Amino acid sequence: MAADVPSVEELYETILRRSPPPLSGMENIFREKAMQRAERIHSYLVDRADRLEEDCISCGRRKARKSFTRSAYETPWDEEPEAKLFCSDECRDNYMYEEPWSYFTCGKCEREVCRQNPKNGWHIQYRDYKGETVCLRCYQGLILENGVEREKLEKGLIPGMFFSWGNTEAINAGYKEVPGYTNFYVRSEESAKMFIKKALELMDSGYRVAVGYERMGIGGTEGYVTLLAKRLEKSKRMRRVK
Ligand SMILES: [Zn+2]
Ligand SMILES: [Zn+2]
Repeated sequence: MAADVPSVEELYETILRRSPPPLSGMENIFREKAMQRAERIHSYLVDRADRLEEDCISCGRRKARKSFTRSAYETPWDEEPEAKLFCSDECRDNYMYEEPWSYFTCGKCEREVCRQNPKNGWHIQYRDYKGETVCLRCYQGLILENGVEREKLEKGLIPGMFFSWGNTEAINAGYKEVPGYTNFYVRSEESAKMFIKKALELMDSGYRVAVGYERMGIGGTEGYVTLLAKRLEKSKRMRRVK
């Protein structure tokens, strides 16, 4: 609520001060009327302070209100959120949570991020990571830190993401491209199995594994992927064996 709106009590005191004294015997009803008036003025002021000049971005017909403003990120890589202005709960929920322009809350950084955005080439901007929906930026951090999820590989999936050209982020985090598995063309179940087998073998011999998506066909049924691996430090490997 706007800080410059006086409270009901302040308004009530002002009304009492400014009114001529009540007739004797009328004190109670006088106070009650003053209180009702203070409440009405207060809600009017709150309502007025809430109004914005801008139109609601959802319906485009009504003026937006401060109290319905939401901060959301168009892409997970944005440093600053954008203020989304709405006129009502209904307009806010339609815009924020109805397909296709919907937003999700990242389970890690807790920001509200657009699911898919043309600013980021319409890439899906979230991933499931161990049952939690996280934004791409957090997912990148998690897989660079821990490697891709073994459970997904075991289910026949190839978890990964589009890094910058040359898989820079993974390389900078100490991963190396695996010879024979760079720009690997996955076009059939066999080729997927071969790729996954190599990834699991590397994990078994003490590597963390990351997967860079190079180019994907529509629907993601085929595409080029690159396998990257990073050897765990000895102390960490020992601990994992125990
Ligand atoms: Zn609206
Ligand atoms: Zn996040």
